[in-house]
Amino acid sequence: MTLEQTEPGMQEIKPASFMSLIATLKPVSTSRLSTFPSQLIDMLPVVVVHGGAGHIPKERSELSTSGVTSAVRAGYAVLRGGGSSMDAVVEAVTYLENNPAFNAGCGSVLNVKGDVEMDAFVMEGKTLGSGAVSAVRNIANPIQLARLVMDKTSHLCLTAEGAKQFARSMGVPEVPQESLITEYSRMRWRKNLAPDANPVECQMGKMGTVGAVAVDSQGNVACATSTGGILNKMEGRVGDTPCIGCGGYADNMVGAVSTTGHGEAIMKVVLAKHILYQMEQGQSVEAASDLGLACMKFRAAGLGGVITVDPQGHWAARFSSRQMAWAAAQKDTLHYGLYEGENFTQSIDVQH
Ligand code: ASP
Repeated sequence: MTLEQTEPGMQEIKPASFMSLIATLKPVSTSRLSTFPSQLIDMLPVVVVHGGAGHIPKERSELSTSGVTSAVRAGYAVLRGGGSSMDAVVEAVTYLENNPAFNAGCGSVLNVKGDVEMDAFVMEGKTLGSGAVSAVRNIANPIQLARLVMDKTSHLCLTAEGAKQFARSMGVPEVPQESLITEYSRMRWRKNLAPDANPVECQMGKMGTVGAVAVDSQGNVACATSTGGILNKMEGRVGDTPCIGCGGYADNMVGAVSTTGHGEAIMKVVLAKHILYQMEQGQSVEAASDLGLACMKFRAAGLGGVITVDPQGHWAARFSSRQMAWAAAQKDTLHYGLYEGENFTQSIDVQH
């Protein structure tokens, strides 16, 4: 989502306001890392998911909210069962890839030729191990393939045909492209090809990249992000999602981030790593996330959203777009929201 696509009421960040935001930031502090052990008991485990930054049409908002809350429950169940943060984020993102309401796996947007090409990324904070796939086709769960790249190869990212060959060698089943395409995606694609198309409206109505970040009971952080990319993208376009530091980053010394929004803008400011750098300088998860998003808006004219955790279990879900479906689970409490300032809560055991 770029500023040209800004909805009414969205203020452009002027250099002066960007500088005043920086002026409000706390002084550099290293105390955060030294308080780590005593706070572990209370705050962990935690998992946060997002369902993409953008403008979610009213008729789809309920689908988005129920999708992210179900996914966060799935991730939290893994953590409560003693699973690792990596297991939890892959579980949550797999859940969202299987949900046709989101732009990942089944439900992915189509490229200009009407095909599905997907990107995915995972990273774990203990080892800085990561794995990614880009421009992959005919795979139901690219996030699981990205994890296999991390676990079974010495590389960080495999692309297109090479990724497909690797998937075959790992016994990952190929699925027909048709099974990944929804009526909604096809309708949006067709609409955007028409001579009187409004690509701005089209793109804003169909974000929905998915992501998760988590901290397990051991204090290990992880992130996972998966997307069909941007609507009517060129064939072979690779976005921010599989690029380390852009679509996500995880480091046990600082925290983990998963991003969503206009990929080209995210890449220009290396958004996930940018946010973690701010945290290294002593910023809270909220302040660092806001600062990264403000930098992206000011320097790269892009809107987006992020979910961020630190190893102590502090978490944030922040966005500069009009909406972002998100949910978090911590201390057996479910949190969720869609518009700025929302943070609804309920017991994790209560179903919608
Ligand atoms: N970041 C994704 C991409 O540009 C799109 C999104 O997050 O909605 O591929």
